Amino acid sequence: MKGALVIGAGPAGLMAAEEIARAGHPVVVAEAMPTPARKFLMAGKSGLNLTRDEPAEAFARNMTLGTGGRLPPDPRGYFGQTETGFGPAEVMDWARGLGIALFTGSTGRVFPVGMKASPLLRAWLARLAGMGVDLRSRWRWQGFEGDGLVFDTPSGRQVLHPDASVLALGGASWPRLGSDAAWVPWLAEKGVAVAPFRPANMGLRVDWSPAMTRHFGQPVKGVAIHAGGQLSRGEWVISRHGIEGGGIYAVAAAIRDGAEAVLDLAPDLDAEALAVRFAKPRGKLSIGNWLRRVLGDPVRAALLLEWGRPLPADPRGWALRAKALPLRHQGPAGLDRAISSAGGIRLDGLTAGLELRTLPGIFAAGEMLDWEAPTGGYLLTHSLGSGRWAGRAVADYLRESARR
Ligand SMILES: Cc1cc2nc3c(=O)[nH]c(=O)nc-3n(C[C@H](O)[C@H](O)[C@H](O)COP(=O)(O)OP(=O)(O)OC[C@H]3O[C@@H](n4cnc5c(N)ncnc54)[C@H](O)[C@@H]3O)c2cc1C
Repeated sequence: MKGALVIGAGPAGLMAAEEIARAGHPVVVAEAMPTPARKFLMAGKSGLNLTRDEPAEAFARNMTLGTGGRLPPDPRGYFGQTETGFGPAEVMDWARGLGIALFTGSTGRVFPVGMKASPLLRAWLARLAGMGVDLRSRWRWQGFEGDGLVFDTPSGRQVLHPDASVLALGGASWPRLGSDAAWVPWLAEKGVAVAPFRPANMGLRVDWSPAMTRHFGQPVKGVAIHAGGQLSRGEWVISRHGIEGGGIYAVAAAIRDGAEAVLDLAPDLDAEALAVRFAKPRGKLSIGNWLRRVLGDPVRAALLLEWGRPLPADPRGWALRAKALPLRHQGPAGLDRAISSAGGIRLDGLTAGLELRTLPGIFAAGEMLDWEAPTGGYLLTHSLGSGRWAGRAVADYLRESARR
């Protein structure tokens, strides 16, 4: 085939295709699923957090927070989106250019006014179709055959030989939405180093005692979590299987990598002030009701009973336990329900233009690269930015090839 092939119609792949088409090259997008961008649409179910309204430098700094600085060294400013030129401001302009009104929440997170992803995706796909991008659904890449790329398609097996390709197959979380990391052995065979996938921005598994059943679905507010030198004061939720939500995701990478987590159930009070509260006589109250009264909240009281045993004997002991309650969990939730994944194609196997060093003419972008970031719009901003960067590099590559 003439022109470029993009594999994967998520945010990274669609953005790469847009850049290639804008440069005037024919581009086919092959997508395994019956419809494109399923994870992007799922992201919109709980409010599509497109980016964070902060300068590119702050964006770069905050992107590495919550990952314990586990991003690779970044001399090019690549992860701050300064190099790709597609940081928070550009993401907002891009969305508005598609007719999507945005608002910034109190924590700086940017959402479409309608919160959903579907209006944005619809407008984007219409624009891409108008630019001549040829989107082929149910085209599942199945590896290499010599220099060709093999696909299972509705009309049978096809082998394509594009002038250049972008792999944008996503990470390994929520595989039922399409990104199942089946490609790892195919690239490994071609000498591409891939770091093992691990869950990121995931909940923690907890084997609750029966007493906790009545709190399933309840939010936990006003609690601080300390883990690996990080602090999270965000909200989270108690579920049948454990705990999940933004407040947990913020420290999840540190916990996944072995840090102990400790809760402070009364972060706005010091231990002395809290001990005074615990010193008030319990009278005829049950222990649960007494703790609820002291801590001002039934869920916090339940957590203290659940994780605070053996129960302290005196007010000071109670206060210290409430200020440093071990978060007892059975490990991270699996990749199947993690918001994102860590691991993927190692960055040292890529050129500055995101071309695979061992596979000239093949570029890669998005969550299939080895980086991780906290929630807060960093994942989408970086997937879009790296897709655009790879798309531009492909356009340059095709121009250079035509000249030779
Ligand atoms: C529940 C949930 C909520 C989220 N909310 C947010 C949020 O609010 N803000 C944010 O920034 N991020 C959010 N994310 C993360 C964000 O959606 C991802 O980081 C982003 O979609 C990654 O983009 P991508 O293009 O790299 O990969 P993907 O979106 O995973 O796209 C990859 C595409 O490649 C296709 N593909 C895979 N294998 C093949 C194959 N063999 N052949 C052909 N095609 C293939 C897949 O079907 C898929 O369409 C959320 C994720 C989840 C799961």
